[in-house]
Amino acid sequence: MDDLQQLVQKLQNTRHLEKEEWAALIRGRTDILAEYVFSLTRKERHQYYGHDVYIRGLIEFTNYCKNDCYYCGIRKSNAGVMRYRLDEEQILSCCSAGYALGFRTFVLQGGEDGWFTDERMVRIVGAIKSRFPDCAVTLSIGERSKESYQALFQAGADRYLLRHETFSAAHYSLLHPSSLTAASRQKCLWTLKDIGYQVGAGFMVGAPGQTPEYLAEDLLFLEKLKPHMVGIGPFIPHHATPFAGEPAGTLEETLFLLGLIRLLLPKVLLPATTALGTIAPNGRELGILSGANVIMPNLSPANVRENYTLY
Ligand code: SAH
Repeated sequence: MDDLQQLVQKLQNTRHLEKEEWAALIRGRTDILAEYVFSLTRKERHQYYGHDVYIRGLIEFTNYCKNDCYYCGIRKSNAGVMRYRLDEEQILSCCSAGYALGFRTFVLQGGEDGWFTDERMVRIVGAIKSRFPDCAVTLSIGERSKESYQALFQAGADRYLLRHETFSAAHYSLLHPSSLTAASRQKCLWTLKDIGYQVGAGFMVGAPGQTPEYLAEDLLFLEKLKPHMVGIGPFIPHHATPFAGEPAGTLEETLFLLGLIRLLLPKVLLPATTALGTIAPNGRELGILSGANVIMPNLSPANVRENYTLY
């Protein structure tokens, strides 16, 4: 057994690694090491979750966004996007379609769209919860005030997905305009947790400027935050963003990180994301085999999907 395999064992036994150890593992990834990790993660997942894979229906209800994240295709400055919003009836009909398919969690995701005030969101969440009382509602609508998060929780929202994107303030400022900060993003996550949401954090793999050290900091942050869910997927360059010419994250590194996260947080809900399925035809299946246990099929109306192009 080599040094890196020993580090993997240490991770499994103690659920902790030092920053340098994480960076060494990430830098030292080989196919053999990855297979070793996956042999452990499959057992871990099976121990807590059996063979279950959890299904969450994704509803992309608005592609309006006031932000200008350098990586994201629906950023404010991209004038080439046909903007749309779904109304309450359209959202409820997505839920009905999902319900008929057996889905019991609906994820409402969108850009940071000022049209969806607290009042409007509270109404929508309330309507979903009263029409589908046995379903969970997850929100993924970015940074809002504590009062807003509180109101949405009171209206019945159960979970909130807000990827921290990258822990490092320096790296965060390379990916976002200066109006957005790592500190404010992270504060939102702690607030959401405080209020009682099940929270999801996460990051892109292979984002421009990412280093093994930055990834190590992401993993240390996950250890501290202890989120219920972790969403990671490869960065994929979008042609109409400042990162159009940057290389995409790789399948191999994403799968490896899914495995490491499963060992760090053995009970975490870990989606095999759409982005993973985009860079490889069997990406999501490989994600499950690496340690993921959630799939989020798209419930958005077919005619708006082409406009919700993050990458
Ligand atoms: N506006 C919401 C939802 C963002 S979209 C929010 O602020 O949380 C969900 C996730 O897609 C983002 O958190 C980001 O990590 C990911 N994403 C955006 N652009 C991407 C790209 N070009 N490649 C891969 N993932 C991307």
